[in-house]
Amino acid sequence: MISRILYYSSRPQEVQYLFQMKKEFSQFKPSDERLTTISERTTDREFCYEALKKVSRSFAVVIQQLPTELQDPVCLFYLILRGLDTVEDDMSIDQKDKEQMLITFADRMNEAPFNMEKVGDTQDYRDLMLHFDKVIRQYHELAPQYREVITDITNKMALGMNKYAHQDVVSYEDWDDYCHYVAGLVGIGLSQLFLASDLEHSPNLKEEGLSNEMGLFLQKTNIIRDFAEDLEQQRVFWPQEAWKGRVEKLEDLQQNKEKGLEVLNEMIINALSHVPACLRYMESLEDIQIFRFCAIPQLMAIATLKELYNNSDVLHKNIKIRRGRTARYFISIKTFEQTKKEFIKILQSLAKNDTSQKINQILTQVNAYENV
Ligand code: CA
Repeated sequence: MISRILYYSSRPQEVQYLFQMKKEFSQFKPSDERLTTISERTTDREFCYEALKKVSRSFAVVIQQLPTELQDPVCLFYLILRGLDTVEDDMSIDQKDKEQMLITFADRMNEAPFNMEKVGDTQDYRDLMLHFDKVIRQYHELAPQYREVITDITNKMALGMNKYAHQDVVSYEDWDDYCHYVAGLVGIGLSQLFLASDLEHSPNLKEEGLSNEMGLFLQKTNIIRDFAEDLEQQRVFWPQEAWKGRVEKLEDLQQNKEKGLEVLNEMIINALSHVPACLRYMESLEDIQIFRFCAIPQLMAIATLKELYNNSDVLHKNIKIRRGRTARYFISIKTFEQTKKEFIKILQSLAKNDTSQKINQILTQVNAYENV
């Protein structure tokens, strides 16, 4: 507490940002009522936004940054993929049945609205699935160019989920492939929605590689951050290539601090290798609202990696970035130049402690493309 007071007393600006953000976030506080109760007196569209607040308040806030035209398509894109993921995560469903449910999800959705009873690990997810017809009806209201993107990505993600039900993430290459299915596809889909809205036009958004890396950067950051939490549930997504040669079991990283930090830092550097592509992507965005929607999560990711780097606490508990920093990004980031400066600042501070020089190489790449 004292350290927090000292911290903020030297950063009065961040306090102001915190208040502003608190105001902004409070509008998206999920209702205490269950979705099932809410569903009885709301329109399909209202239900979708209530559900979004319940399943991801931070995404509900960030979606409001988007141009109005894109808010419904992105909200439904998110809820539909969340629905698919709820099926995947439900361990009570028989594996064979599950694979069938995932692979037919998009087709069923395009045929007619449907619900799923007793699917989902938490009450909110079960309620979402119980009233999923509302989400699907709203999806049917979207323009065809948006529906096409959502169908395509849903089908591809289902394929990836089925693939990784049968195989582990062994090599770093597998890690990229796994993250492509669960997050890279989201980046690719979002780019296609942006292009379909005619608010964005850059060839960089049509190039799937860059959109994929936008997703990979966020997903890898989450996977690294969530180590301790995921270990408890026996579902860690750290590639074996990173730790197998160093320790016998993943748990050993908690006892062997030296090896633990080696693995952690190597994985963080792997995630940072996506930064040049992410910057190239963000630089090509034309619409400032779309830019903020993309840039805020990217900034939070690199700030998180800074907190995680060389920090053995990651191996034991969940580390969060300071709320003041989140607030500063949320309120003050408006341009690509600001964003790039922040990325470079963080990379420079990380490079100081990196004897492998790899972070310096990433910095060189970041600085090089500017002159092209
Ligand atoms: Ca999942």
